[in-house]
Amino acid sequence: MSAGGDPRALIRGLKQTLRELAAEGLDTLPRPPALPIDASPAPTAPLDRAPETGATAPIAAPVATTSAPGIETLEAIRTDLGDCRRCGLCETRKQLVFGEGSPQASVVFVGEGPGADEDRTGRPFVGRAGQLLDKMIEAVGWRREDVYICNVVKCRPPGNRNPEQQEISTCRPFLDRQLRAIAPRAIVTLGKPAAATLLGRSIAITRERGTWREWEGVPLMPTFHPAYLLRSYTRENRQAVWDDLRAVRARIDGS
Ligand code: SF4
Repeated sequence: MSAGGDPRALIRGLKQTLRELAAEGLDTLPRPPALPIDASPAPTAPLDRAPETGATAPIAAPVATTSAPGIETLEAIRTDLGDCRRCGLCETRKQLVFGEGSPQASVVFVGEGPGADEDRTGRPFVGRAGQLLDKMIEAVGWRREDVYICNVVKCRPPGNRNPEQQEISTCRPFLDRQLRAIAPRAIVTLGKPAAATLLGRSIAITRERGTWREWEGVPLMPTFHPAYLLRSYTRENRQAVWDDLRAVRARIDGS
């Protein structure tokens, strides 16, 4: 597909150009720097080791202030969501958890839905599972603020139950729009529901994790949810997630 005909390809190309300009020292564009993932050295540490010092040093990458034609901004999507009452999860949530991170992110992590801590703070992945996700992100040489983190549903299912299909179907267009706005070079789905949602089919996460898939032409890597990892903190599972994230890192670095 030619970049000239595809707005998402256009914006990906624009982002790549901006990163390259930043790497050459250009620092005169007006917005503060986004932090390109692909500037850090290739990961060499296992998941349960501390991240390597210096692996996450930011490089000044200017942020595009406008989107390519046809691509909306995250701000516009958040405004459209508003105080959303499109599905029943609005009845029990404390607050909506839209997502956070760099709008220029090279990689987007997608979970299933907010938990109690996220519902209370309005931020994704801030509880124990979120802290583990932070370690996972740092272990491959990224920083949380370099990536984008969000969920399939933006409001907490009561009692941390799985979101129902109708709730997913209602909220999912906003996730699609977030992904199109960011135009990442890779998506990492955390757990089975997020992978199943974006792939549009049932999956067996133990069989499909670590296997490249695609969402609208964007490489997608299914891996375990950090909450699962906490429940089953085995060497084998840690190694699996480490392998998955290292594969994502290598793909982004090589693209
Ligand atoms: S889960 Fe999504 S669709 Fe349902 S109320 Fe929250 S933001 Fe709206």
